[in-house]
Amino acid sequence: MQLEKYTMGVGDRFAQEGEAQLHAFLAAREHGVEVVPVWNKSNREHKTVGTEPQSVRAEADAAVSALGWGGPYHVDADHIQLGTVDPFIPGSDFFTLDVADSIGTRASDADIEFFVSRHRNLTGELSIPGLARTLRIEEEDVASIAGKFLLAIQEAGKTYRHVVEQKGEENCCFEVSIDETDQPQTPVDMLFILAAVADEGISAQTIAPKFTGRFNKGVDYAGDLEQFTQEFREDLAVIRFAVQEFGLPDNLKLSVHSGSDKFSIYGPMNRAIKEFDAGLHIKTAGTTWLEELIGLAESGEDGLAIAREVYTTALDRYDELCAPYAAVIDVDRDALPSAETVRAWSGSQFANALRHVPDHPEFNPSFRQMLHVAYKVAAEMGERYRSALEQNRRTIAKNVTQNILERHLLPVFGG
Ligand SMILES: [Zn+2]
Repeated sequence: MQLEKYTMGVGDRFAQEGEAQLHAFLAAREHGVEVVPVWNKSNREHKTVGTEPQSVRAEADAAVSALGWGGPYHVDADHIQLGTVDPFIPGSDFFTLDVADSIGTRASDADIEFFVSRHRNLTGELSIPGLARTLRIEEEDVASIAGKFLLAIQEAGKTYRHVVEQKGEENCCFEVSIDETDQPQTPVDMLFILAAVADEGISAQTIAPKFTGRFNKGVDYAGDLEQFTQEFREDLAVIRFAVQEFGLPDNLKLSVHSGSDKFSIYGPMNRAIKEFDAGLHIKTAGTTWLEELIGLAESGEDGLAIAREVYTTALDRYDELCAPYAAVIDVDRDALPSAETVRAWSGSQFANALRHVPDHPEFNPSFRQMLHVAYKVAAEMGERYRSALEQNRRTIAKNVTQNILERHLLPVFGG
């Protein structure tokens, strides 16, 4: 199965917004921007909400048929490993092989030595077209990269073969994700990781590295913009080179696990992919659910009451809700409004504090991140939450569509 050039991953925690999300892709198409939707939901989200992987396929299929979306679309088994992949196999056609847990565990000395000798031709001075500087690569560098990543890629190979055996290569595509780790990868790391991916026989169509800077959930990029831009462009050059050098699929592209809303890097990314004529997969987090809260807040007293209740309950359960996401949120506890304050807010005050318009005077990034991880509270409300969504469908859908279209699809892929 061949993955398209521009793809975007959208999450939908409560599986109610498939149509509203797909509307954004239809609208982008009207702007001449063709992007293929990929619905993704991780094992962690399924566990928290109490859903099964098959529900994502059902949602995607239903949205596609309701709106008559005539193009391709995919369902991503996000961040899976050999131990978690099985329930995802029937309904998914995009598999994100997450090997971060194995990074840093050494492969056998024999495997490392073999890898180094196999790729000796890349050592010394190496110039890669599109890369402004010449790389100087020593054998020890290759050995050290192999020591860190080779075993992880071997693990990815096991999951890859397990899925291919059951689904057939023609029915799925694969991403290798190494983003959920502590250290960003350099272009040289990327080169040898791709060598290992090719050696392992993994027909990867996307690769998700860890970039410099912080990719917190639902808020803007925090880091060195110039360094990010350079890394991103160098990765594009390295991928293009690796496709030729190692015989990887020629549509292999970068995947950015953005955590959504990385407005300040969307411009540099957009310019780079156009300049390199490269593809891109951008994965967003489940921020569609924040648009549900915004829509509820804007829908009148009943909706607002639900939105307020989610927040005030979350505030009481701060530690429990934030702990699993500690590495990807930066909530300033002192900046969180008290329950009393929020109970006195109007619908538009709630919406303005939550909606990601960075220069809006009422926008509060801590409030937004706190709510982002509070979906467990809404899940526990069960039918009460779902029927509130149903009753306020129109206002919610408008927010969901606008957010994906105007704050993501057009800035990343447009122009
Ligand atoms: Zn990720």
